[in-house]
Amino acid sequence: MRLDQLPDDVLLCILQYCGARELAALSSTCSLFHRLTCDDFIWKNLSHREFDLSLLNTGDIKSYRKLYTNLLHKYGLMLGLYQSQIGPLGGLLEIRYCDGKIEGVSWEPSSMQDVSAPLTECVFFSVPGDRFLTPQCFPGPNAHPCSLTFDKWRGIVTQRCFNSFKHTNDSSGLDLIHLNLNPKKLRLIFLNEVMGRGLEHKPLFIPTASSIPKSLLNKDGSVPKQIITPGLFQGYYGSHGHEIILFKYKDENEMCGYKVTGDVNVYASKVTVKIQLKYPVAPSKADQKCLETLKNMEPARTDAGVHKILEQPFYVPAECFEPTTPFPARCTARYHGFGQVASTWYQNPSFTPVQVVIFNNDLLGVLWLEMSLFSLYSRIKKKFTSNALKIGTSAL
Ligand SMILES: [Zn+2]
Repeated sequence: MRLDQLPDDVLLCILQYCGARELAALSSTCSLFHRLTCDDFIWKNLSHREFDLSLLNTGDIKSYRKLYTNLLHKYGLMLGLYQSQIGPLGGLLEIRYCDGKIEGVSWEPSSMQDVSAPLTECVFFSVPGDRFLTPQCFPGPNAHPCSLTFDKWRGIVTQRCFNSFKHTNDSSGLDLIHLNLNPKKLRLIFLNEVMGRGLEHKPLFIPTASSIPKSLLNKDGSVPKQIITPGLFQGYYGSHGHEIILFKYKDENEMCGYKVTGDVNVYASKVTVKIQLKYPVAPSKADQKCLETLKNMEPARTDAGVHKILEQPFYVPAECFEPTTPFPARCTARYHGFGQVASTWYQNPSFTPVQVVIFNNDLLGVLWLEMSLFSLYSRIKKKFTSNALKIGTSAL
């Protein structure tokens, strides 16, 4: 029997396993296949098979064929999470499908007070679902054309602005050094600086619980409450505002926090905190009241395993600055660690002793002993579009 003698529903069943290239080739063979390959059911399956559209409200999609051929075919591989290279400041960018468009959304901390406040979104670019329209830089009153290129080897998206003076008005003549206290203005300056020559967004793959070294897990494979699963956190950085940090395991001895965003002292992509998992500490209530006593504690190595660490009370030393986000009075573990500090423009960087306090899987605190500062880090619970293909290496 010839292929075109099969009933339509059987052919449709077969066609739903074809890729876009095969569908295009088949559609030009005869009127039967042309008609069948126009069936939106096939394109719906193809779109969902190749791209993570699960987070979207796809109810408004009138034609999956148009969605695929106009948008996903060219821009679909870009869907996912990225670290934007905005000078020293960096950024967290999600490329998502939304309301018939593909958008690059920068997620930014919204509050100077509460590290658990939801992030706010700022649309960096938008690709209209019409193949005759060009991508737009900063959609809104100042929208202007830009180009988006995708490096299929390194997974890097480059956004090139054709009209960068459109967003420089606000920053001309501003003095960088004296803007230290205004993170928003600084960010705008660095953004404008890179926009004209091409803003790079590097792929950011968030490790899952399966990346936790096996020796740290409980016997039944579960995660002990004394450690956290890797992921994105929002943390307090004083006058620099809140920053976005990726916590992940280096090995069974160390977990590191890397800056997704950064500031003019310690730049984006640098390590901000190292947690020494083999060096737990358990200061008494009296010891915790005084920063000097904590500084003088000699960290001692133990190979007993993190699950042996006992829950303990936690007090902020009297001399320390306290965060405004509430935190529990007890913690599940406390470790010795190091935090990175530097002068402006990452001059003279060094690691200074810290103590890291694990309250629960979504909240930890860092006591910067030399700086008399206690800062909180709260897990970002938002679900982001996952990278369509794991192309290239993760920025962090
Ligand atoms: Zn622009």
